[in-house]
Order: sequence, then structure tokens, then C-alpha cells
Amino acid sequence: MLDADIAVIGAGVAGLAAFQRLRERGCDAVLIEARDRLGGRVYPEPVAGWPLPVELGAEFIHGAPPELADFVAEGAKAPQRNWAVVDGELVPADEFAFGAGAIFERMAAREASAPDLSFAAFLEQNADFPAAARQGALAFIEGFEAADPRRISVRALNREFAQGGEHEGPLRPRGGYAGLLEAIAPAGGVWLGAVVHTVRWRRGGVEIEALRHGYPHRWQVRRVIVTLPLSILQHSLQAGAPVAFEPPLEAKRDALEHLAMGGARRVTLRFREPIWERCRDERGSALDALGFLFGGAVPEGHIPTWWTAPGSSSHGAQITGWLGGRRAWALAGLAPERIAALALDSLSAALRFHRGDLDNALLAAHTHDWEADPYALGAYCYAVVGGADAFAALAAPLEHTLFFAGEATEATGAHATVHGALRSGRRAAAEAALVGA
Ligand SMILES: Cc1cc2nc3c(=O)[nH]c(=O)nc-3n(C[C@H](O)[C@H](O)[C@H](O)COP(=O)(O)OP(=O)(O)OC[C@H]3O[C@@H](n4cnc5c(N)ncnc54)[C@H](O)[C@@H]3O)c2cc1C
Repeated sequence: MLDADIAVIGAGVAGLAAFQRLRERGCDAVLIEARDRLGGRVYPEPVAGWPLPVELGAEFIHGAPPELADFVAEGAKAPQRNWAVVDGELVPADEFAFGAGAIFERMAAREASAPDLSFAAFLEQNADFPAAARQGALAFIEGFEAADPRRISVRALNREFAQGGEHEGPLRPRGGYAGLLEAIAPAGGVWLGAVVHTVRWRRGGVEIEALRHGYPHRWQVRRVIVTLPLSILQHSLQAGAPVAFEPPLEAKRDALEHLAMGGARRVTLRFREPIWERCRDERGSALDALGFLFGGAVPEGHIPTWWTAPGSSSHGAQITGWLGGRRAWALAGLAPERIAALALDSLSAALRFHRGDLDNALLAAHTHDWEADPYALGAYCYAVVGGADAFAALAAPLEHTLFFAGEATEATGAHATVHGALRSGRRAAAEAALVGA
């Protein structure tokens, strides 16, 4: 006997969006999630009585996606200014102030038919740019794309950048991403704490086996929407994988080999007051409107990028440090206290703020190890050389039975984002519902 017509595996944004759409269409569906919470890599941490949202995963809305238009925080573009640490000096500057933008412009001008290559190889071929520009561009690829520059595809980067980014600074959701989760959270039909380990499938029938809070559980359904993170799908092709598909997803092997999971680490420091307002830059200007602080060239092991939370005041202030790519991978598995100490050291060096005074003003540090998280195994994906079409290949359904959603299946340049995950979930729900219609 069937337990439902369709099962959705994974209750991150893609799974929640897919499930919501299926329910709206009157489909008989279940949603199966390993964690005891919804949201996956969207992970707002509630802090009682605290006025600002604390996010452990996604925080920004990238670009101006129509899917999230209703969630954009008003006043999100309150006047803020950015600074950078250059040769140990604090100067007003944006991320691309030292010429990195020109590198990306030249990259965008490449013929679409030119052979694909990695960003590192592209930089080598364009050695005429000044060192500061090259350094800034590399820091962006590692930081924002969370990628290995020796692997990431220039063709895929060009496609992504062509979608348009945030020219006036990134937006945030009103009150944080908790509001989005609330809006797409289902009223019922969700199995939390159910860790799927086997998906046995044939055309028109799927058996899903899980351990739910340690006890075996099984669902028989006609179709499945798989929203597992890329890393978990990649592992599924190896022996001893956390999730095994029987038969294995051979048809996806090429796509899975042309995508990679990026690494990112964020640490949010909560302070009694906006301590940065007490700091001054090289020219004596106060940092009271500090938005972003870029320090791409800081020594290895230090946190290069920082941003403050809008609305920080004497009622509560917070600043978030960010590392991507190899800097983030280097911190995987470190205890949260070590990460907090590293963050305080880095911030103290960047702002030239006495470390003891920082400690005194600190209320708490918040971080999550996405690399070690068994249900994420990394931050978000990118395409490696030759992989610009791999997102679409991963998204393609198999035998009208397995459907695929999740940020890594987003082929319109919005992979690695919340709105990309949302879009992919809605797309997969439409595909799966159509088969049953
Ligand atoms: C640190 C960080 C910062 C980010 N910042 C931003 C940002 O500012 N803006 C932005 O747009 N995007 C950002 N992103 C990316 C964004 O969070 C993701 O693209 C998006 O949330 C992915 O959603 P998803 O549904 O595809 O995957 P997920 O959220 O990973 O959902 C997959 C679900 O599958 C579940 N699962 C895994 N294994 C099993 C199993 N065996 N059985 C059952 N369930 C399982 C997981 O628990 C998870 O809930 C960030 C990501 C990270 C990690």
C-alpha cells in the first residue's frame, strides 16, 4: 500500500517550496527531513530578547529576485559605508576598489564559444592586471563564490554574473530569514528527525528507508522529489554513502563530477554596543556608518571580511565575520570557542581595537560548522571547468519518477542562493505534479 503519491526528501527551502506547491495542487505528499528543524542551510538562531536576527546560514537576498520581493526589509539600503584593510591601514573602499572589477569585465567579454578554463588559469593568462586587482578578484572568488579558483569555471561565472548582482549592496529579508521559513512552512505532513539512508527506485515506484530518531521507518510512494545537498548526492555514488540510491544515480555522474561544494564559514559576534563606532580610519573618519569591512590580504588564518547588522544600537549590536574557500576549509572541525577567539583576534587587528576591550563588550559568538554538518557537508555549490551546463543536467528528472530540486539544480545562474533553492523547488513540484495529472 502506498503511503503517499509523492515524497519530498529534505526540508530546506527547496523542499519546503516544493511541498507547498504540491499541497496547493492537492497532491498527496509527505516531506521527510533528517534534522529536527526546517530550513536546512537557512538557519536563523532565536536569541530571546535580542533585537537583531542572528543567522547561522543565509543572511542576504542576492540581486532582486521576484520570489523574495515581498520579504525585502524596508530601509535595507540605509546609508552605510565600506572600508578595507590595505597594507595594514584602514581606508574607505569598496570590495572592487583596487581594480578587481576590470578583471571581471574582461572575463565577461570572452566569447561564449571560447574554451572554458578555471578562474586561476584566466588570471594567469591576464597577468597584466596590477597585483592588488588580482588579489581582490581572487579574494572575491574564494570569499563570495566559496570556491577553489583553480577549479571554478569561468563560463559558469560569466553566466551567473550576467544575471545581474547587487550593484547597490545586498538586500536582507525583513526580520531575517525566519519570516520566509514561516511563510513556506507546512501545516502538517512533515516527518522531522528522519534520516533517509536508502532510496530504492524503479519507474513509477520508490521505497524510502530512514532511521527516525533511531528507529527504522519506510515509505512507499510513486515519485520522489530529491532536494539533498550536492555533496550528499556526490557521495551517493561511492561505497558506504550516507544516502544510497538503488540503482545508483549513474545518469547523474557526469553532472555531479562537474559541480563542487564550496566552503564558507561565518561567525556573528554580539556586542553590548556598536564597538566599531569608537574606531577611526587612517584619515581620522569615524567608522559609525560601517557596512562592510574588506581585508582580502589579511594573513592566512585571519577572517578577511566583516559586515555589521543594520539596526545595531546600544540595545544590541552585531558584526559578522566571513571566510570562504580554502580559508573556510582550514577551519572545519575547529571547536566554536576557537572560532570565536579567532574572530576576536581578527576583528581586533582589523579595527585596531584592544582585544581586552572587545572581550569586555562581547555578549556571545554564534557559528555553525557547515563543512562538518552531516546533512550539508559544505556551504553551496559552484561549477568546475566544463560544468556550466551541469546544473541543468542535475535537474533533469529520471524515469518520470525521481525529480531533483535544490540550489545545485538551479540552471538560471541562481545556484548557491536561497531564491535559487526556492525556484528549483517550485520547478520540480510542477514537473512531478504533471506526471500524476
Ligand atoms: C554559511 C552560508 C551562508 C549563505 N549565505 C547566503 C546568502 O546570504 N544569501 C543566499 O541567497 N544564499 C546563501 N547561502 C546559500 C543558501 O543558504 C542555500 O543555497 C539554500 O539554503 C539551499 O537550500 P536547499 O533547499 O537547496 O538545500 P538545504 O537547505 O541544504 O536543504 C536540504 C535538506 O536536506 C536535508 N537532508 C540532508 N540529508 C538528509 C537525509 N539523509 N535524510 C533526510 N534529509 C536530509 C537537510 O537537513 C536539509 O534540510 C548560504 C549558505 C551558507 C551555508
